[in-house]
Amino acid sequence: GGRWLQMCRSKTSAPKNFCDYESMRRIYNIQVPQRFNFAKDVLEQWETKEKQNGQRSSLPALWWVNDSGLEVRWSFEELGFHSRRLANVLHQVCSLERGDRVFLILPRVPEWWLVNVACLRTGTVLIPGTSQLTARDICHRLQASGAKCVITDETLAPLLDSVSSECPSISTKLLLSHRSMHGWGNLTELMGKVSDDHVCMDTRSDEAMTIFFTSGTTGSPKMTQHSHCSYGLGLTVNGRYWLDLTEQDVFWNTSDTGWAKSAWSSVFAPWIQGACVFVHYMPRFDTSTVLKTLSSYPITTFCTAPTAYRMLVQDDISRFKFRALEHCLCAGEPINPEVMWKWKELTGLDIYEGYGQTETVLIAGTFKGMKIKPGSFGKASPGYDVQVVDEDGSVVPRGQEGDLGIRVKPERPFSLFTEYTGEPERTAECFRGDFYLTGDRGMMDDEGYLWFIGRADDVILSAGYRIGPFEVENALIEHPAVAESAVVSSPDPVRGEVVKAFVVLTADYKSRNHKELIQELQTHVKTVTAPYKYPRKIEFVDHLPKTVSGKIRRVELRKKEWGQQTSKQIW
Ligand code: ATP
Ligand code: MG
Repeated sequence: GGRWLQMCRSKTSAPKNFCDYESMRRIYNIQVPQRFNFAKDVLEQWETKEKQNGQRSSLPALWWVNDSGLEVRWSFEELGFHSRRLANVLHQVCSLERGDRVFLILPRVPEWWLVNVACLRTGTVLIPGTSQLTARDICHRLQASGAKCVITDETLAPLLDSVSSECPSISTKLLLSHRSMHGWGNLTELMGKVSDDHVCMDTRSDEAMTIFFTSGTTGSPKMTQHSHCSYGLGLTVNGRYWLDLTEQDVFWNTSDTGWAKSAWSSVFAPWIQGACVFVHYMPRFDTSTVLKTLSSYPITTFCTAPTAYRMLVQDDISRFKFRALEHCLCAGEPINPEVMWKWKELTGLDIYEGYGQTETVLIAGTFKGMKIKPGSFGKASPGYDVQVVDEDGSVVPRGQEGDLGIRVKPERPFSLFTEYTGEPERTAECFRGDFYLTGDRGMMDDEGYLWFIGRADDVILSAGYRIGPFEVENALIEHPAVAESAVVSSPDPVRGEVVKAFVVLTADYKSRNHKELIQELQTHVKTVTAPYKYPRKIEFVDHLPKTVSGKIRRVELRKKEWGQQTSKQIW
């Protein structure tokens, strides 16, 4: 990986909120208060500060733009004003009480942020879902969650109506639209009829705040419950240290509103730091729009999925000059070293990786000021003792593969989920001895860096070897023919199981002779990594199956290989 070091101008990456990894872990010290509410204890504080300083000097709390140049900019005061009204709608008009569940399906529109804050204010439990859900998904989710209120737009309202007779818990439906619809309260209209006075609920720290669905990469999504402190306070780690945000930063996170990543990076982490949340209403991810946006707006910090970076480095980035970008991050899946090198070559910027789950805040990451080892997702976050453990729950020696876990005894970190809602057994299964297990396999090196091997189910066992798909995919993508790939196990009469790669070709290689290309790729893998890992089978495909959040669903490919049934549905 030394080649890019000489090739590109290196931008400085001195951290603003700490000086180095060790000192960061030392200074991290969060005492959880008895009572905590993010709207009151964080957002209202910024509002007060804004009033004291005069608004002109500060960036907006929310800066929303769309493709037609429409913009919404809300200061913390305006955010407070609108969300107090919406809180009154939820409480007075919809008669929702503290603890009631609110199911929210809206794309990236400003009102999505208002509902987030209004739920915090009323102590209602927010359950966000993605706009790409089907009627069946919605029905399952409403039944499983027992939500009392749904909030959505015109596109999804008919789907909801088609299943609402099967979901008796629903007592109110709120519609975001210019029109009215039978059986639905109009959100904007109702907000105009209530007062902007609202006293924020004084919630306990351990009270339920939100329920997120996991991405469903391995199976059906799990309802993951967080408390006011686990996310509201716990995501300080993400905002202050990993994203390294301050009040002077404009932060753009591209993730969809249905996933925990949006709570992480579009609500709590940036606002804990008083940073500006930047949003581009992009119905679908488009590399030109992303590059144009980074060039037109003073975005300092950018976080997107590895799959998006893989697409971005295929584009002609040299056409663009980024206006203020200085810190790039990714999370959700492993990022290929090759993509990091290319991004650095093209932009002069490093990509800082983060590893975490819906169930947690950032578990580990590369933090500014730290040496980056491409292929490793960095070191343990402050607040978590991350270890690699064996079947008995004992820590394995450095360099040895095992299950990635977070120590929960003698003290359970406050930034861990409360439970999988209504599933005590499933919750209990995540714990072994003194650890919470992530379900991922990994390794820790001598310097404490963690290396991702694969989800426990994705690891391939071939002729006595254990092979992580990620290392084979990393080797493949170093070849110019490969845009992306997914590596899974495939049945073989002699070896039992062999490595198979599904490969999406780059534009230049699409018309090449496939037989020759297969051999060329196999030889390439054998030369850049241990030969036993090379894919004995290669199939070229146009797309890889992915979750709505853009993660490769290896399980789908694997099941197809093994002739098993698989459901493409999100639920
Ligand atoms: P499900 O649990 O429903 O199968 P999911 O695990 O993909 O879906 P999320 O909570 O969104 O749902 O994702 C967390 C998982 O994503 C992690 O357990 C890990 O497998 C993967 N992941 C996240 N960040 C990284 C990373 N930097 N490197 C490797 N894997 C990552
Ligand atoms: Mg998971």
